[in-house]
Amino acid sequence: MQELTSQQRSLLKTALEQLEKELIDLLSITEAGAKPVKLKDNQGRLSRMDELHNQSILIANRTVTSNRLKAVLRAKQRLEVDGYGFCSSCEEPVPFKRLEAYPDASMCLECQSDNE
Ligand SMILES: [Zn+2]
Repeated sequence: MQELTSQQRSLLKTALEQLEKELIDLLSITEAGAKPVKLKDNQGRLSRMDELHNQSILIANRTVTSNRLKAVLRAKQRLEVDGYGFCSSCEEPVPFKRLEAYPDASMCLECQSDNE
């Protein structure tokens, strides 16, 4: 398996920075919706339950988003210290095509699917 070229590393660095920005944006957009649901006038019991239900989905999505953001930040750190692009499990280089799709991936596809 090929190790990353410096050109590929800089492409992935840009992709990680872009991803980080998008995730931060997404978290700030959904921030208001994650606050406790207020009781409103003229609102039936059913719509309040709907609202609580929608909110629980939103909070679950925010958790996924913030975990992804942590993975992106860890990937950026690995990029600084040169551990980036290697599987954290088998230590083989992770194929560029996989990193292109998931720049925050810390494992190769084989180890990732063993892990799940
Ligand atoms: Zn692996």
